[in-house]
Amino acid sequence: MSFTLHGLGVSGGIAIGRALLMSHATLEVSHLTVGPRMVDREIARFDQAVATVKSELAAMKESTEHAPAELSAFIDIHTMFLEDPELIDKPREIIRARRCNAEWALVQQMEQLVAQFEQFDDPYLRERKLDVRQVVERVIKELLGHPSRAVMKADKGLKEETLVVVAHDLSPADVISFKEHRFASFITDVGGATSHTAILARSMAIPSVVGLSNARSLIRDGEVLIVDGMRGVVIIDPDERVLEEYQLRKNQIELEKTKLKRLKNAKSQTIDGIDVALYANIELPIDTPEALEGGAEGIGLFRTEFLFLDRGDMPDEQEQYEAYKKVVKGMGGRPVTIRTFDLGNDKDLHPDSSVHDRVKTNPALGRRAIRLSLAEPQMFQTQLRAILRASKFGPIKLLIPMLAHAHEIDQTLAALEQAKSSLRGEKVAFDENIQVGGMIEIPAAALAIGLFLRRLDFLSIGTNDLIQYTLAIDRSDEQVASLYDPLHPAVLMLLAHTISSAEKANIPVSVCGEMAGDPLLTRLFLGMGLRIFSMHPSQILKVKNRVLKANAGELAPTVRRMLRQEEPGKLREALEKLNA
Ligand code: PEP
Ligand code: MG
Repeated sequence: MSFTLHGLGVSGGIAIGRALLMSHATLEVSHLTVGPRMVDREIARFDQAVATVKSELAAMKESTEHAPAELSAFIDIHTMFLEDPELIDKPREIIRARRCNAEWALVQQMEQLVAQFEQFDDPYLRERKLDVRQVVERVIKELLGHPSRAVMKADKGLKEETLVVVAHDLSPADVISFKEHRFASFITDVGGATSHTAILARSMAIPSVVGLSNARSLIRDGEVLIVDGMRGVVIIDPDERVLEEYQLRKNQIELEKTKLKRLKNAKSQTIDGIDVALYANIELPIDTPEALEGGAEGIGLFRTEFLFLDRGDMPDEQEQYEAYKKVVKGMGGRPVTIRTFDLGNDKDLHPDSSVHDRVKTNPALGRRAIRLSLAEPQMFQTQLRAILRASKFGPIKLLIPMLAHAHEIDQTLAALEQAKSSLRGEKVAFDENIQVGGMIEIPAAALAIGLFLRRLDFLSIGTNDLIQYTLAIDRSDEQVASLYDPLHPAVLMLLAHTISSAEKANIPVSVCGEMAGDPLLTRLFLGMGLRIFSMHPSQILKVKNRVLKANAGELAPTVRRMLRQEEPGKLREALEKLNA
């Protein structure tokens, strides 16, 4: 029977596909008692699952022949664990002795092993507990009948492009791993519209809906779903008529996209001749071609923390240097703004990471981003040195997240000087005049903007966090999502104040939060005086389309009048008029 769920549309477009239910396998294992005659069968089931995962790993190793050596080494370690009696024989003994199901036995043994690994002094050995967990997760998925996606494809003849991932929650690291796949869409029970998971959905330009509350328990594997990422609607098991209607709308959207592609090489300029720079936000070096394809004039925000979210250790200087160099070279002389790690809050390293203690209370207000970098000088130096070294290959700008205090800027600049002087000592080339900018994403920074204008070369407004902190709304909590209002007069006041103050001080300012990529806000920002926008590559041409039709000079007085309006209804009305 057909039914509809409502959530928050976080990425436009329409997807039609079949449901693929995802779970964090190890968290959902039940404890079952099996009859004495079932014990042998349970052991055989366990052996079979191990054998399947082993052959999957072997196939993976073959297909990643040209991949980095580290990947191949990981596969070897996982295979080795699957041959270790501690992980293979012990669960069999547990099944026999306790007459329990294979999944439960395996998880019991895993916990034992993880506890043993945690005792090691050597950090390398300690981290191997992650491998144990990952390999066990694979076997559990196999046991639970959630075979790997490759197997699923072969079994049901389903292509990834036709699958809608249905999950209770997805971490940014989960979504990053989706970049290697081509799922049609994903939908989740939890999450807010500017949660990092949602941002990643947008960056992949796949229609997605979050905050559906109980999609995972209501939807069954393989059911046909329509995902309307614009309206935040998911239709389960639609009838023929509805399917046809949505197919039609989907085709229309595709057509509009194709039309927009013609604007790729058009100069981004308003009718009255004002140049407007449109940059791309990226998470990984592999996003660079998409940024160029979307017509980006440069990278306005490279969220470097995403490079490493799904692992437990910090990448060393060489690995980071290679990643930054790849982006700079890929952008062929266009500017690349690299933001130092914005770790913490929802963008944390792997749960078992030993890099830093997780903040348990109020993580959004805790030691995240620049606060963490300044507290971990070694980590910060490594990153700064890697960025500086890459700056020899093209114009890099350094961007610092979550600044609130003048002394944080001073300490950051001192740390940069230290990194520069160590490189000078080693006679390593880098850009001596690298520009340093700050994210304005805490209301204190927007209000005391003079502190920032006096110390930095450029500013970039992070509206996602600015809204979160101004309105005291957790950006990833769907329960308060309706209160997360980018058009709240307080937010608009902070934006207008920051943009006009920067303009007066002759300091370039951009917006790189989600608001910059919303074509319905382009005219508003142009009227505020904004001339640099940074957004997901998929949004650039839509925004450019608005820029080309706008007259910035005429917009300015209208927007000034509009900003005097505090009543939300009237503000929205004024925005509609502005866009008409
Ligand atoms: C922001 O806060 O608006 C921003 C661009 O940074 P992030 O979304 O990565 O926190
Ligand atoms: Mg931010």
